[in-house]
Amino acid sequence: MCGIVGYVGRELAAPFLLQSLKRLEYRGYDSAGIALIEDGRLLRFRRAGKVKDLEASLDVAAFAARVGIGHTRWATHGAPTDDNAHPHLDCSGRIAVIHNGIIENHAVLRHQLEAEGHVFSSQTDTEVLAHLIESLSEGDLLDAVRRAVAQAQGAFAVAVLSQDDPSRIVVAKRGSPLVVGRGEGAGYVSSDVPALLGKATEVQFLLDDEVGEVRCDGYAVFTLDGRPVHRPPHRVSADPIAIQKGGYKHFMLKEIHEQPRSVGETIREKLDEATHALSLPALEKGFADIDHVYFVACGTAFHAAKVAEYLWEDVLPVPTHAVIASEFRLRNPHITPRTLVIAVSQSGETIDTLMAVRRARARGARVVALVNAEQSAIERESDAVVYTRAGIEIGVAATKTFTAQIAALGLVGLALGRRRNPDSEAVCARELAELALLPGRIVEALRVEARIQSLAEQLHRASDVLFLARGVLFPIALEGALKLKEISYIHAEGYPAGEMKHGPIALIDEGKPVVMLASRDIAYEKLLSNMEEVKARKGLVIAVSDAPDDPNLRRLADEVLPVPAATGISAPILFTIPLQLLAYHVAVSLGTDVDQPRNLAKTVTVE
Ligand code: GLU
Repeated sequence: MCGIVGYVGRELAAPFLLQSLKRLEYRGYDSAGIALIEDGRLLRFRRAGKVKDLEASLDVAAFAARVGIGHTRWATHGAPTDDNAHPHLDCSGRIAVIHNGIIENHAVLRHQLEAEGHVFSSQTDTEVLAHLIESLSEGDLLDAVRRAVAQAQGAFAVAVLSQDDPSRIVVAKRGSPLVVGRGEGAGYVSSDVPALLGKATEVQFLLDDEVGEVRCDGYAVFTLDGRPVHRPPHRVSADPIAIQKGGYKHFMLKEIHEQPRSVGETIREKLDEATHALSLPALEKGFADIDHVYFVACGTAFHAAKVAEYLWEDVLPVPTHAVIASEFRLRNPHITPRTLVIAVSQSGETIDTLMAVRRARARGARVVALVNAEQSAIERESDAVVYTRAGIEIGVAATKTFTAQIAALGLVGLALGRRRNPDSEAVCARELAELALLPGRIVEALRVEARIQSLAEQLHRASDVLFLARGVLFPIALEGALKLKEISYIHAEGYPAGEMKHGPIALIDEGKPVVMLASRDIAYEKLLSNMEEVKARKGLVIAVSDAPDDPNLRRLADEVLPVPAATGISAPILFTIPLQLLAYHVAVSLGTDVDQPRNLAKTVTVE
């Protein structure tokens, strides 16, 4: 996961590295470090903790270096200690390496290098690269890096700095993302484009098994066997202001409030609201004959896929299954050339999902990537791409990308349904008319925030919380529980309400909070019966409902949080809003680090 950054140019390197590392901190934040070359000497500073802890330990203004690399770590091999923080050095202390990913054959390489006399000072897999480059070095750093990564197995994005070659940073990639860029008298390296906003004017995404060098006049990219790579660069246009907090206390809150726009943009790109024509170029590649659909995804994206499983069954006469990507690889899914696999991932770099895509394609499936970030690995390895247009999401806990995924998946389902199933036209027409109203309804749903704020005061002492729902709202219960876990660290579980009596009811005792999603359209009476069962055991019922004035509901629920009434794609999106706000305000009451919750990272590039 982790963030990588590098700078070589006319300006001072250290302030840029620290500022960019803060922008990359969403990727991992258990330790941070930088390496600089100053007066011909390689200097390294690193420590466990956040980038601000590293910054506080340095006199940044005192550094005159104009070249350097920086790293924020998400530990996989070795605890998050000072010694395991990157950069890692070779024996001579002349070569510094930062790395994102896992070197899977690190134990064998380490053994060989130790036998050659190399002395290791960390428990990381990364350190083998520093010693391997040292051992293969015959004067040209790029050549040594190329030969070293050819021996490495696993996933990596690396940036290497050598005291003997201060004019360039050498980079290489396989699996993990890496971007090189060019700006005014400067060359840049980064794990993603947002860290370079306002600096680089054009960037190039490295592909797997490419190496490169970054100099003050730009960059050059080569294949592992040394052939130059020429691809047109991408212009960097996004506005750096767009990634600031815009007056909100946290990015997560800002992103929750951006949903009328992010969902609206996602819909507008694909649907002509006047004619109800759907424009999804990805589907022009001929998916009309598919007879089976698998969604593969992880975490929050899996919950969006699970919503889509319900929605698609209404319009598409083929079996659809949402499968957790890391499990997809361990099963024997029935795949033929008529199987459609939809890979859902915010970053498009989620390694478990990427691996599921590879497996599906190897067996002949056709794959559509549904991603938020452009130019990602999953997009590149898929047959077609559909974007969510949520914009950059900085909060580690996904919010606006989740609702955008539901909207986009819903529209893809409708488009396929229209082609495959003339009977679905009535459902489609109703859905498309409702979608035009959705952004306004999200604005209405957000008005519940003040009530949630006071409810959060009550809930933040809970040790666990149950989320129950039925039908298409069941995955929303899963997502509500996940959000609460992720940012407040309160134990929470989502269940189909019908399953309560098969086990979770044993957890209910006096005051146990149970969040119940009650939609008039989805087995409402049965859900009310489940509420009775919770009340009979003195549980605390928090109802989220589109029938907030129903006297039966009011009698049973201790608290009713209203959502605007809607059906189809709109309903799961609207029911999500109060659950996001609940997780957020409970976490704020507890004082946790909302935007960067412990142990998590946004772009999950380890398996
Ligand atoms: N595997 C490396 C480590 O544990 C890199 C982890 C990362 O991507 O931050 O240090």
